[in-house]
Amino acid sequence: MTKTKFIFVTGGVLSSLGKGLASASIGALLEARGLKITFQKLDPYINVDPGTMNPFQHGEVYVTDDGAETDLDLGHYERYTSVKLTQKNNCTTGRIYFSVITKERRGDYLGGTVQVIPHITDEIKQCILAAADAVDVSIIEIGGTVGDIESLPFLEAIRQFQSDVGKENVLYIHLTLVPYIKTSGEVKTKPTQHSVKELRSIGIQPDILLCRTEQLLTPEMKAKIALFCNVEKEAVITAKDVESIYEVPLVFHQEGLDDRIVEKLNIWTRAPRLEAWQALHERINRLTVPVCIGIVGKYIDLKESYKSLNEALYHGGIHNDCRVILDFFDSEELEQQDPREQLAGVDGVLVPGGFGSRGVEGKMRAIQFARENQVPYFGICLGMQLAVIEFARHLAGLTGAHSTEFDPETPYPVVYLMREWFDYKDGVVRRRDELSDKGGTMRLGAYPCRLLPGSRAAQAYQQEEISERHRHRYELNLDFKKALEEKGLVFSGLSPDGILAEIIELPDHPWFLGCQFHPEFKSRPMDPHPLFREFIRASLEKSQEPKATERL
Ligand code: GLN
Repeated sequence: MTKTKFIFVTGGVLSSLGKGLASASIGALLEARGLKITFQKLDPYINVDPGTMNPFQHGEVYVTDDGAETDLDLGHYERYTSVKLTQKNNCTTGRIYFSVITKERRGDYLGGTVQVIPHITDEIKQCILAAADAVDVSIIEIGGTVGDIESLPFLEAIRQFQSDVGKENVLYIHLTLVPYIKTSGEVKTKPTQHSVKELRSIGIQPDILLCRTEQLLTPEMKAKIALFCNVEKEAVITAKDVESIYEVPLVFHQEGLDDRIVEKLNIWTRAPRLEAWQALHERINRLTVPVCIGIVGKYIDLKESYKSLNEALYHGGIHNDCRVILDFFDSEELEQQDPREQLAGVDGVLVPGGFGSRGVEGKMRAIQFARENQVPYFGICLGMQLAVIEFARHLAGLTGAHSTEFDPETPYPVVYLMREWFDYKDGVVRRRDELSDKGGTMRLGAYPCRLLPGSRAAQAYQQEEISERHRHRYELNLDFKKALEEKGLVFSGLSPDGILAEIIELPDHPWFLGCQFHPEFKSRPMDPHPLFREFIRASLEKSQEPKATERL
């Protein structure tokens, strides 16, 4: 196949119907047919990227290898397929306008009036083309819901796109809701009809409808939706609610979605190879043994802010044949309460990444509890920095040790802002200080790390050098390395030049490890991340020990 085909996925009726998962599942099915695919997410908000947005509102910021701070849907795309995404695969209204305005200031438009149509829409179309280099199919998800003012320029651009590249190369898939009304015992098609009407009023006729429902739609219901929405009966696909998100590709396949897609796009492929998805599904169905992981963080109410983390823990559970149960603990509450009571029932403790000083002492109390009570501990980014601070304060006698992020006057800045470091990605020395621009001073994206032979980290990875993704500003201060090592802290991962500490661990503990990077971004359901796999294995072992209360 030479010419790239484009699938546009839009959503209607309401948000949170699972457009990201639907797009990822379409990608998984096409990849299983041997096609080379990619994804793109077009987000209608004005931020240039989600990096500065509050995860509480927007959900997790997903980081790619090239250091782009992107929408969490890119996490779904990478987890469901083998694609490697970059900055090009996520584009926002802000980025589009930024680029158009920069061109306007440079004088590129030669005195013309710069307008939404054609300048903004042209810029959007160029972005779509730029992300679809050398692939058979590009799947483009439009954020938001049809009918929003913000998404109109994107919808207009994808409407035009069909005439630019040819009807035979473009497919529009619309995800909508078909609610089941309990009192009358019926499913309702009206919201879907309205949503499609809205889409058609801006010139887009969907080719396939994905109908999110609680129950499978009957042929009669499908016929009714098809008639009112002007699509073929076979193109009305039930997107039934499922127990596990990793079942979605299988459910779509049973409904004939991938057959419809290749037929409509006139692509010849082999039948999909779904054995691995099938095996995964069966393994998930067999998970019974519960393992409880206590996550101590700030944004407890919104699980979406730790999306990749939750998935990575779940993947570790699948591999160890146990069902991971997540228990969220508010770190601020832990400042007032006794962690021995609060965390008594957990088999492992995890402190994830975070920014800001709220709840930091509570997180350290949880870490101290895990360290002293032989409970497996996994610290990610901030969770690693705090583990080192806790160790410095309580075991290395560095009273008042802290991160300069939270206490600029600390006598022992074991975590600090590095002024200069060598950026392996582009081979330049980077500099920053407290006054540097917030957007541009983070260590972002993939960095290499060398592992200490024989360490827990090296055993988990079975590799000498690894590459992991970062998103943080502060670093461990290696001036304190020797003092901490003398008391038993092991620096088991360092940057190749030895300047940056990437992994720490405690050998005389069942499992206590912290990493400066975010391993959760690279975990896959069929290929769990080694650190999550080992953390869950240790927590499973812990869960099988008699509990303190049982011992009495
Ligand atoms: N706030 C810390 C830093 O900037 C940790 C960041 C994180 O956990 N992602 O270094």
